[in-house]
Amino acid sequence: MRRCVQCSSELAEEFRFCPHCGAAQRRKVVEYFRGHAEIDDGGLRVSAYLTSPRHLRMSIWRDERAEAAISLDPDEAHRLGRFLLAITPRRDALRVRESVRRSAQALREVLSGRGRAM
Ligand SMILES: [Zn+2]
Repeated sequence: MRRCVQCSSELAEEFRFCPHCGAAQRRKVVEYFRGHAEIDDGGLRVSAYLTSPRHLRMSIWRDERAEAAISLDPDEAHRLGRFLLAITPRRDALRVRESVRRSAQALREVLSGRGRAM
């Protein structure tokens, strides 16, 4: 068990924020995203800085070298997140949508007398 950097309350190791006072326990969280294999190489590193000034730092990496970087304030980072969620349907959602489409087609065929009954 460790203690909060702000209020000294006990915290589980995996907590990024203190549940008692809300203080960030880690300075930043980093995630790496691979570039599209058929279009590009390299990748995108996203660092979320959790302490002031809070921001999202994104950098494009190729051959283990950062080629460009930009920082977004939390509002713009949130807007980027909403944009990505809106335009990038999850694969499992696509599978469900296709399954529903096939089921609806089969039901239409059964109801019209063209398909086999289940
Ligand atoms: Zn705390």
